[in-house]
Amino acid sequence: MLENSLKTERPARRSLWKITGWRILDAWRNALLPNRCAVCGNWVPAIDTPHLISGSIGSGAGDCAGNAAANQCGSALPAALLAAGLSNLATILCDSCRQQVVTVQRPLCTVCGRMFEDREGSDRRCGDCTRQPRYFASARSAVLYISGFRKVVHQFKYRGKTRLAGPFGDILLGTFLRFWGSDDMDLILPVPLHPKRFRQRGFNQACLLMANWNRLDARLAATPRLLVRTRATAPQTGLGKAERRRNIRRAFDVKRPESVRSRRILLVDDVYTTGATVNECARVLMHCGARRVDVLTLARAV
Ligand SMILES: [Zn+2]
Ligand SMILES: [Zn+2]
Repeated sequence: MLENSLKTERPARRSLWKITGWRILDAWRNALLPNRCAVCGNWVPAIDTPHLISGSIGSGAGDCAGNAAANQCGSALPAALLAAGLSNLATILCDSCRQQVVTVQRPLCTVCGRMFEDREGSDRRCGDCTRQPRYFASARSAVLYISGFRKVVHQFKYRGKTRLAGPFGDILLGTFLRFWGSDDMDLILPVPLHPKRFRQRGFNQACLLMANWNRLDARLAATPRLLVRTRATAPQTGLGKAERRRNIRRAFDVKRPESVRSRRILLVDDVYTTGATVNECARVLMHCGARRVDVLTLARAV
């Protein structure tokens, strides 16, 4: 899937060299200095932790999710994936940087998934979602997008630290299975990048996060290039809520509208800040006749 998206979107040669250069430097540094934190460069103690999807546990978990015993182990699998992803971060991040990774806990907004500062009470709709109805039914995230974790995501997206995609992918899949099941979705769509941005970066981060998911369950394969970005927008960073909504308006289109009609769709992205981007994607998908759109992101602003 990832390979297909890379082939079809053809990143510019110069960008590929840049990305490849980062990866080669990263690989060399890892070979010479095997245990350095991907964010701050501090030493990381050597820990041998299995990768849940692609490692030895992965085949067992895949069997479990793919057969009638899925319900039996379904409750344990999300927690196991989440724990494996977090523990695998210990091979990539030092203790200090890893402490910046805080998982989203209840109570949270039933719509946008915001974690309430007040830890009392049950899940409920937040003020923003009451005032401003969303086109998506619900949004859920794995971890909080707080200052330290911003650096981690920055390293992943802009500095070619793509080895973070493995543990991030496990954490994201664990979060998906915490809130939904494979039977709940007909289509899984990554939030698309504009081709220009794709050429600069060399990969779509949402695709990369889901690259191993279909090893666990074939139904979890993402469908790239169905939802497309038709307009190159200015970066959303630094814009207010209303500006973000205006900036992203009419930036997406659906290639084959009949493919989304009456379908339950999961939209996947790396970060949920105000929700303007995923809400605009959901608007377009619902306009094309989607039955329901839900959103999953790795991180969420507080
Ligand atoms: Zn560190
Ligand atoms: Zn909300």
